Amino acid sequence: MDCIFCKIARGEIPSEEVYSDEKIFAFRDINPQAPVHILVIPRDHIESCDKINAENSDSVRAVFEAIPKIAAKAGLSGGYRVISNVGEDGCQSVKHMHFHVLGGKKLPENMG
Ligand code: 5GP
Ligand code: ZN
Repeated sequence: MDCIFCKIARGEIPSEEVYSDEKIFAFRDINPQAPVHILVIPRDHIESCDKINAENSDSVRAVFEAIPKIAAKAGLSGGYRVISNVGEDGCQSVKHMHFHVLGGKKLPENMG
């Protein structure tokens, strides 16, 4: 499948890795929107949060179990924001579910 995030998770496209285990991969966003901007993805291809179901939710659990470790590693002791854009109205540009972890400064209150 021609999915850029599947390729990044497999190491076929280079990225700045932050965390990796058998289920998930985390790397720096190429166009950071905050001093720390990390993308956390399941290695399994799931299109978006809208496609989560009982068969694939293990990957989602793995993502959220890793986020505290990733945040600690990235020095986000003051807090952070986790966002996942879904579909057209959510402005999702890459169709492989991913969670943005943003921090490193006081983030704006407005979420859109
Ligand atoms: P979305 O808009 O789908 O929620 O977020 C996609 C994110 O992926 C964007 O923040 C964009 O900067 C990031 N991105 C897209 N292509 C690449 C890439 O090849 N490498 C990295 N590290 N980030 C990417
Ligand atoms: Zn994919």
